[in-house]
Amino acid sequence: MDLTDKIRVIEDFPEEGIKFKDITTLLKDIEAYQAAIDQFVDRYQDCDIDVVVGIESRGFLVGAPLALELGKSFVPARKEGKLPAEVVRAEYDLEYGTSILELHCDAIDPGDKVLIVDDLLATGGTVEAAVSLVEELGGEVVELAFLIELSFLEGRDELTDHDIYSVIIE
Ligand code: 5GP
Repeated sequence: MDLTDKIRVIEDFPEEGIKFKDITTLLKDIEAYQAAIDQFVDRYQDCDIDVVVGIESRGFLVGAPLALELGKSFVPARKEGKLPAEVVRAEYDLEYGTSILELHCDAIDPGDKVLIVDDLLATGGTVEAAVSLVEELGGEVVELAFLIELSFLEGRDELTDHDIYSVIIE
């Protein structure tokens, strides 16, 4: 199945000049959603992974079903102020300004092998923040996985320390 066709492109969202990749059309199509998760499962079912970290919020939509199918723990990386217990935090750059990502301190044990998942790789800043949090807690990042990679933004070039897997590369 060609999953590229299942992603809707919305012009000028959230700002003028941006072509936003809307994954809700893929999520609504049960066969497409299952096919996307199956591709991740095929890649990771024989890998040594303890924890799947999903990045808020669309990363949860990929990471949680994947973790369940792999029989691994799921851990949410959330935006500032959402997690109730003690956290580690990392600031990262957005196109305009900065944002903060947090992980519960007890979410990753030292030595855990961690797969980090998000819906989309653009410049790489968001996932880089997630990597730094996992590593701060002593986790070992196995790979970075995305449903969509916007290759023209060259996020991959900023993440040379880690392997990257993307289902759809545009
Ligand atoms: P980066 O930090 O790599 O520049 O941006 C990636 C983050 O922004 C991801 O968490 C992703 O959810 C979000 N993002 C940026 N552009 C898009 C887009 O066009 N579609 C979707 N679904 N997410 C986007």
